[in-house]
Amino acid sequence: MANPLRKMKAKPFGNSGIDLPVIGQGTWDVPESGPRAAEAKRAIRRGIELGMTHLDTAEMYGNGRVELWLGEAIAGVPRESLFVATKVLPGNAHYHGTLDAAERSLMRLGLDYVDLFMLHWPGEHPIEETMRALERLVEDGKTRFVGISNFDAAEMLEAASFLRAVQLACNQVLYHLRERGVEHDVIPAARERGIAVVAYTPFGRGQFPRAQAAQGGVLEALARKHDATPRQVILAFLTRETNVFTIPKASRVEHVEENAGAGALALDAADVAAIEAEFPRGEKSPLASL
Ligand code: NAP
Repeated sequence: MANPLRKMKAKPFGNSGIDLPVIGQGTWDVPESGPRAAEAKRAIRRGIELGMTHLDTAEMYGNGRVELWLGEAIAGVPRESLFVATKVLPGNAHYHGTLDAAERSLMRLGLDYVDLFMLHWPGEHPIEETMRALERLVEDGKTRFVGISNFDAAEMLEAASFLRAVQLACNQVLYHLRERGVEHDVIPAARERGIAVVAYTPFGRGQFPRAQAAQGGVLEALARKHDATPRQVILAFLTRETNVFTIPKASRVEHVEENAGAGALALDAADVAAIEAEFPRGEKSPLASL
């Protein structure tokens, strides 16, 4: 498998002015309590050591318990080496609700600021109001960057239009080999506007790569060619565009090490074409989400 100690690639995170590692770490459904919680903390810290410093969480995850868990997992890690991202629930995303949610998240994470604060998905509150609150959080030093999640291309551009003092850093969307809809318009529109795209659920929650690899398909063939694993090939494929990042979630050290190994893997045009042939993009359809 591709060596996890090979240097993790980083690239510009949209127009934010900073570079971010291409592979980060998700935290949805981590075992935040019980016998596997400690191993999951070791796993995330191992990921940080290997350069996966973009840590994604949300107030929704475990009703705030995952933010608490993450705060414990990163305690003692130099703050400036991390990029911590969290999200406000749409139901809380009116102006004051957004500011309050950020305070609660910071408290649970044990941080003075997060690096990225996002709206989790479009909801009932006017997006202009949420964007004003996000901007205020930047002014107040509570977050460095602001973003959205589960926004289609038109919604993303509308949200961006309401920001005055800061730019929209990213849109976090569902993107994996069997769900490539964002390639039609979200990724190109974001690239044109200097907005990063963060691909969530890159393994489709872990289901299909195993079955597909077992059948000896293209992922297996490319893994052999690159001295990598099928999952590493998947992560390299999803992050092949200049503005796309991904955040696989893994709560086992060996999984984290495997995922980190994808951070130095580059596929050539023929590799990409071979994957595209086996996992077609499909017709343009409404944005899919979980
Ligand atoms: P995912 O990353 O596609 O899949 C997670 C599953 O894959 C887990 O069962 C994990 O197992 C397994 N896995 C990871 N690496 C592996 C490896 N190298 N070998 C074997 N199995 C491996 O799914 P996800 O958690 O839905 O998505 C990733 C992150 O995106 C989330 O955690 C969350 O932070 C974010 N997300 C955001 C939204 C949104 O609406 N914005 C929605 C969904 C997810 P183990 O845990 O046992 O290691």
